[in-house]
Amino acid sequence: MKVILAQPRGFCAGVVRAIEIVERALEKYGPPVYVRHEIVHNKHVVESLKAKGARFVEDLSEVPPDAVTIFSAHGVAKSVEDEAAARNLPVLNATCPLVTKVHNQGKRYVGQGRQLILIGHAGHPEVEGTMGQIPSPVILVQSEADVEALGLPSDTPVAYVTQTTLSVDDTQGIIAALQRKFSDIVGPETRDICYATQNRQTALLDLTRLVDIIFVVGAQNSSNSNRLREIGVDAGVPTHLIANGSEIKPEWLHNVEVVGITAGASAPEIMVRDVIDALRSIEPVEVFTLPGQDEHIEFRVPVELLDVTGSQQISKDSDLGHSSSPEAICR
Ligand code: SF4
Repeated sequence: MKVILAQPRGFCAGVVRAIEIVERALEKYGPPVYVRHEIVHNKHVVESLKAKGARFVEDLSEVPPDAVTIFSAHGVAKSVEDEAAARNLPVLNATCPLVTKVHNQGKRYVGQGRQLILIGHAGHPEVEGTMGQIPSPVILVQSEADVEALGLPSDTPVAYVTQTTLSVDDTQGIIAALQRKFSDIVGPETRDICYATQNRQTALLDLTRLVDIIFVVGAQNSSNSNRLREIGVDAGVPTHLIANGSEIKPEWLHNVEVVGITAGASAPEIMVRDVIDALRSIEPVEVFTLPGQDEHIEFRVPVELLDVTGSQQISKDSDLGHSSSPEAICR
C-alpha cells in the first residue's frame, strides 16, 4: 500500500504557542495551572498536559483563588476577561494572535458605525469569544440561506469578519451572498481564514487527485479538521476524520492502493505516525510526502514566560508533535 502525506499538515503556530504557554507555565509556576476550555481541540494534547499538572475547566468559577489561569487558543469573550480581572486571577492568554486580529478588526468596524456580521459556526468557542469581544450585537451567519433570511434593510452599513478555520470555498459563497444583499459592505474577503487553515486545505486538494481514500487525523470537535474532511468528501474521495489508527475500519481499505493522510492544525504528528503504524499492521506500506507550502511562522509566548528556557518546547521529536522550524516571526 502506498501512503501519501499532505504537506503541510498538523500543528500550526497558534497551537504550538498555546501548548508552549501551558508547558512553560507549569515549569515556571509549578502544577497545577488551570486552563479554561481545552487548550486546543485534541484529546492526546489535553491528556498529555493533564499528566503534567494542567487542569482543564469550562468555567472560571472552577478556578481556585490566585491560581494561574490560561485562556485557550480559541479566545474568550470580554466578560470572561472581566471576570478573571475582578477575581485578580493571574492570567496567561493563549488566544492565537490571528484570532485576536479578527477581534480587533471587528471592533474597528463597529467603531465605524457598521453592523457586524460574523461568518462562523454557532457554538464554537472561537465564535463565542469573537461575538463576546465586540461591544455591540453581532449577527452570526452560517450559510448563504442565513444571509437570505437577514431582515436588515439593504442599505444598512455592514461589515463582516470570519472564523479563522472555515472552508475557503464555502466562505466565498457566503461573502458573495452578503455582497449581493448589501450595498454598503466592507470586509476582509477570506483573509481572516488563517494561513494554516488555507495551506492545509490546499494540500488536501492536492492529495485528493492522487489517492483512493483520505484519513484526516484530528478531533471530532476540531473545526479545521472537519473542514478538511468535508473538502475531501466534496472532491469525491472517501474521507474519514479519525483521532488515531485504532479508528480505522478494515472495510474502508477494500480495493484501496493509495492512502492519503493529513492532520488538522491541533493534531500532533505522533498521531499521524500512529495511523501509519496501524496501516502497516494490515499490510506493508511505502510512505511518501507531497511537496507543499513551507511554513516558517512562529508566535512569541507572553512576556512573563520568556525567562523560562522551554526545556519542554514542542518539537518534531516531542510526544506532542511537530512544528515547522521557526525561521520567521509573525506577530
Ligand atoms: S488554526 Fe489558525 S487561527 Fe487557529 S490557532 Fe492555528 S494559526 Fe491560529
